[in-house]
Amino acid sequence: MAPKQLFRFPPGEAFTTLLQRNKEWAERVQTVRPSLFPTNAQGQSPQILWIGCSDSRVSEACLDLLPGEVFVHRNIANCVHNGDLNSLSVIQYAVQVLKVRHIVVCGHYDCGGIWASLTTKKLGLIDNWLRGIRDVKVKHRIELDAIKDPRQKANRLAELNVIAQVHNVLRNDLVMEAVGTGQLQVHGVVYDVGSGLISELDIPEDEDQSLYYITEN
Ligand SMILES: [Zn+2]
Repeated sequence: MAPKQLFRFPPGEAFTTLLQRNKEWAERVQTVRPSLFPTNAQGQSPQILWIGCSDSRVSEACLDLLPGEVFVHRNIANCVHNGDLNSLSVIQYAVQVLKVRHIVVCGHYDCGGIWASLTTKKLGLIDNWLRGIRDVKVKHRIELDAIKDPRQKANRLAELNVIAQVHNVLRNDLVMEAVGTGQLQVHGVVYDVGSGLISELDIPEDEDQSLYYITEN
C-alpha cells in the first residue's frame, strides 16, 4: 500500500479543489503546448483505441500521450462482450469514423474483476459481467489449477483474459475487415501496477476466427 502522502486528493477534500486543480492543469498545458487546445477544438483524429480496466491505478495515461491522441473505453476487467452495446459502439466509431490504426486491449495485474472471477462468492449484478472471465477461467482451468500461488494465478488469468478479449475484438466484423486491409492492428498488453510498465503479450492465433467471418455477398 502506497503512503497516503503520495495522493494529491486526500479523503475529505472538497470537490471545489478538483475544479481548482483543473484550472491549474489547463493553464499549465496551455503554457507548455499553446497549440493543443485550439487544435483539439477543431476535432479529433486519434490513432489509438485503448480498451482498459476501470481500476484507478491503470489508465491510458501510462502511454504519456496528450488529450486528442487516444480514444478510450474502460470497464471492469477490460472486457469486450458480445452484445455489449457500449464497447461495440466505441469500436465501431473508432474503426469506421476515426479510422484508428491500433486497438490496445490492456489488462493489469492485481485486477479486482479477475480476483472476483476466481472466487465462488456471489456479488450480484456484476456476476453477469464477470461471466466472460469465468468462461476464460474454465477454458484454461488445467493451466490455472496447476498454479498454486493465488497472486500468480490471478495474474495469469489477467493475461489469459486479455488474450480472450483481443480474440473477441478480432471477431468483430468491422475489425476483421480493417485488419484485413492493413488499416488496423490489435494488441494485447498487461500493466504492472507495481512498476507502471506495460508488457506486450503474445497473442496466439484464434483458430476459430474464420468461423466468425461474415460478408454482404
Ligand atoms: Zn482491473
